[in-house]
Amino acid sequence: MVQRETALVLFSGGQDSTACLAWALDRFARVETVGFDYGQRHRVELDARPRILAALRTGFLQWQQRLGDDHMLPIDTLKAIGGSALTENMKIEMGANGLPTSFVPGRNIFFLTAAAALAYRRGIRDLVGGMCETDYSGYPDCRDDTIKSTAKTLSLAMDTHFDIHTPLMRLDKAQTWALAEQLGGKALVDLTVEETVTCYNGDRTHRHDWGYGCGACPACDLRAKGYAKYATR
Ligand code: ZN
Repeated sequence: MVQRETALVLFSGGQDSTACLAWALDRFARVETVGFDYGQRHRVELDARPRILAALRTGFLQWQQRLGDDHMLPIDTLKAIGGSALTENMKIEMGANGLPTSFVPGRNIFFLTAAAALAYRRGIRDLVGGMCETDYSGYPDCRDDTIKSTAKTLSLAMDTHFDIHTPLMRLDKAQTWALAEQLGGKALVDLTVEETVTCYNGDRTHRHDWGYGCGACPACDLRAKGYAKYATR
């Protein structure tokens, strides 16, 4: 049976997908989560997922009954293809194609296809993802056009209507921090600082006011600047 009151959130354990999860919990009667093990160099994001889910269950009573099953899917193909700084020990820098070496070609399309297949089986038609074209490095699979086209393709391919919600699409990082505060108050901002992982180097030893990270990689830089802008509003 298809149920439009349930959403499936692509939840990585990062700041963006945690904000998306809160957004979905605020709007849908029931929310399931899915994560992907694609051979990422650092496991800290995957390790953060259960901690964040547990904290949401115990610390946010308004969401306790809404937060449902968590799913973990392996997608080994991306690692086998290789060539990305997210799956191999490579320096993160601008590549000749004008994209950073952290670009994993097709990653979001793999994720959305797998998520839609899982959603289909579970009678869910609303997917939620943290793709954002504002602050990013021009990853083409984060663009609104790509996501809209993917929703159409998946709907055609499974002969059903999928909606892919991307609440962060037009937000900058400061606005993502503000969204967390709006949805879950200071408690959600604190949880985001303490537990969510953004750093490309998977650093969990250096603590800043915006959370843990190496403080030097492009992802830490974005997160730090966004937090500073949010904190000084
Ligand atoms: Zn970093």
